[in-house]
Amino acid sequence: MRDFTYCKRVVVKIGTNLLSSPEGVHVEFLTKVARDICVLRQKGLQVIVVTSGAVGMGARELGLNGKVSKINMRQACAAIGQPLLMQSYRSVFGKEGVKIAQLLLTPEVLNNRKSYLTLRDSLETLLSLRVLPIVNENDSVSTSEIGNAFGENDRLSALVASKIDADLLILMTDIDALYDADPRINRNAKPLEIVDELTPEILAAAGSAGSAHSTGGMRTKLDAVKIARRAGCRVVLAHGNNERVLERIIAGESLGTLFLARPRIKNRKRWILYSRPEGFLRIDEGAVRALREHRSLLPKGLSAVEGDFSTGAVVQVNDMAKIISNFSSAELQKLIGLHSSRITEILGKEAPAVIARPEETVFIDERDE
Ligand code: GLU
Repeated sequence: MRDFTYCKRVVVKIGTNLLSSPEGVHVEFLTKVARDICVLRQKGLQVIVVTSGAVGMGARELGLNGKVSKINMRQACAAIGQPLLMQSYRSVFGKEGVKIAQLLLTPEVLNNRKSYLTLRDSLETLLSLRVLPIVNENDSVSTSEIGNAFGENDRLSALVASKIDADLLILMTDIDALYDADPRINRNAKPLEIVDELTPEILAAAGSAGSAHSTGGMRTKLDAVKIARRAGCRVVLAHGNNERVLERIIAGESLGTLFLARPRIKNRKRWILYSRPEGFLRIDEGAVRALREHRSLLPKGLSAVEGDFSTGAVVQVNDMAKIISNFSSAELQKLIGLHSSRITEILGKEAPAVIARPEETVFIDERDE
């Protein structure tokens, strides 16, 4: 029996396929979800929804058939579809007496510590007002072409869960579980009830990233699972069409696959880990050793600086770590290879003594399973 007794905050991700019907938003499905979410809220849980479906609804409104792949059209469709989606959410939740709020996010919002903290405040306020926050990507302003999009909402939902310290992420999807092999190819494939570790076998069974045969986008789901687990958040992947699926999951029923969490890493470190780096530092072997021994990063070990960033930016170091840099890129250029005693001589008395302290250094391999 699964135990979610101590769960307080749950992120529920709803996929496009579940939400869509030939008539637009699948109102019948959404009505059931709304009732289910209300039950969770009555049990005292805080619920945040991450919804997909904006692009699909927009395409339908424009009478487009098939997949919309041109980026400008996807953005236009998202702008058209998002209000339609929210209209449906408002209508079904209104019938349950629940007010809703819309939060549209971009990676920049989550990467920038100030806007991320503001977002967290807004979410806390909405939750304290008993309003249901509904999150989607702001697709009309973020594009994968210029490298600033989440891409899909599995990842977005895991980042949201991680950043707001959710205890549980429920991925409501059109697959009933993670299988130990691709069930479409292997008749003996078995659903996995609990996953404690994302072993190479499990990752292989989910198919390669972006492959047409990945088990219904299972690979992106497992990437999301990694992010959430690292934040100490459990994940349940289950078919959204199961009756009262959310209520039954919370009650401990063995629906879908449960992914257990790993020990929580501190929020600030997590923020560093999942921020997109604004620059790149190359450091020598001595400095690599120092970082591994949890010592500070000093200019002496620095051999190159790439990118244009300010003080406080998240910067990648070799392919091993991310740090918050105490110096801007221009300042670091002047410090390459120098002994620490020369920092104040070059940058003035107030200059920090190190590039980054161990508390502001996160190893990228910490993200891996
Ligand atoms: N943000 C996209 C939308 O609302 C969904 C991306 C996805 O399918 O995960 O259409």
